[in-house]
Amino acid sequence: MLTIEIRDRIIAVLERDLEVKVDRLSSSIHSAVSEKIEFLGVEFQAVAPSVLHPPMSEKAKRARKKYLKMKAEKAQELKNARETRRKKLGLKILNHLFKRMRRGEEFEFDFRIENEVRQVFKDWAEETVAEYFKSQEHCQYWHRLLTSGDFLSLTRVRDQLPPALVDSYDKFQETLDRFFMPMRGHDMTEEEESLAEEEEKEYEKMTVEDLTELKMRANAPIELVRKAVKLAGFTNSMGRPRPIKLLLCLDDADIIKWYAGVGRRWLDFFCCCRNFRMVKTVVSYHLRFSCFLTLAEKHECTKRQAISHFTKDLKVANDDGVAEVHFPTEREIKMMGDKNLSDPKPVDGALTMILVRLAVDDTSYPCLAHFCAKTDTVLYRIRLLQNRLNVDPLNENKWVHGLSAIHESLNKKCLPLCSMHSSDLLLGKITLQDIDCTQFVDVK
Ligand SMILES: [Zn+2]
Repeated sequence: MLTIEIRDRIIAVLERDLEVKVDRLSSSIHSAVSEKIEFLGVEFQAVAPSVLHPPMSEKAKRARKKYLKMKAEKAQELKNARETRRKKLGLKILNHLFKRMRRGEEFEFDFRIENEVRQVFKDWAEETVAEYFKSQEHCQYWHRLLTSGDFLSLTRVRDQLPPALVDSYDKFQETLDRFFMPMRGHDMTEEEESLAEEEEKEYEKMTVEDLTELKMRANAPIELVRKAVKLAGFTNSMGRPRPIKLLLCLDDADIIKWYAGVGRRWLDFFCCCRNFRMVKTVVSYHLRFSCFLTLAEKHECTKRQAISHFTKDLKVANDDGVAEVHFPTEREIKMMGDKNLSDPKPVDGALTMILVRLAVDDTSYPCLAHFCAKTDTVLYRIRLLQNRLNVDPLNENKWVHGLSAIHESLNKKCLPLCSMHSSDLLLGKITLQDIDCTQFVDVK
């Protein structure tokens, strides 16, 4: 009810005060549990906590147990090795002292340390005993040894013995039981049992949460991303990477920057999503290899040669001859995804437009980026995706739902940009909104 009221109030303001037309059909309220809600290009859905944190499979549990056991064994081994070394050293010292004592040598000290040494040895002994009896196995062993073959518990024998002896024997047995009595079952150690208990508790908590709580899941619309990737020509109809012919006329660095601009924006935008891994695959595999294929086609070489020249990280030399990396490296991509919501910057600008460098050596134009006064510029021509594909972005069947398009009127316009701003525009750090679009240059 509250949601409906809020919706109605918003619509009232929109229609009455702002005189905007609201689509009644699209603004009806749906269930957040049974349907996905689209917001800012991300799909939201309320799900049970177990969907976000699925319980460990039996296989995973076994693997974890094995890992823990291995870790404990390794730690024990290290500890044993340390103790062995210490024991050897101690024995050496004692041996040495003993030999000198036997030869009748006297040790002269400025201070008497017998008491301290005695205390140290006493502490050690006590610690060792305490440590020893902590182990259930050792206790069991002693209990078994000390209680087996106890003919003193036979009535016939007891009757013939002095009561004091029988009493003291009984007392001894009681003490034995008190200290050494095995507490639990033989086949399950204490550790395993507490582990099982913990698991059971965890399961219980999860079950109750699943029935009572709902959590919000944010997913990247992976189908749309795939469709956009296909539309822009990164992949063929089979979903395999392919070269983009339109980019062949660009500089190597500009090709890589363009790919990096698209990839980085997707990674930035969807980093909070639950299925971010799939977006990572699209960028790290499909975009990266489409880039290799484009570069290979441009230089008329094989993909393998392109990879060995540019390396897997797509290194390219800048104007000063220094190798730069623009495309996110595989390692970088692997580490991404802190599940925090980021400031969403639209991907569309970088994806739906390319800048073709013109072979005009007229450097009299100033850079068109706002607040840039540089005159050392290069002319670029804007080419829009929809014109290249001859697709109307308003036709939802042909275009990708949610992917906005740059206005038709900007197609084939020419703009001078300094090296920094052309790079920023390609990499998606700035958009056409940061450019003075009234100052386009006419090139015949
Ligand atoms: Zn500039």
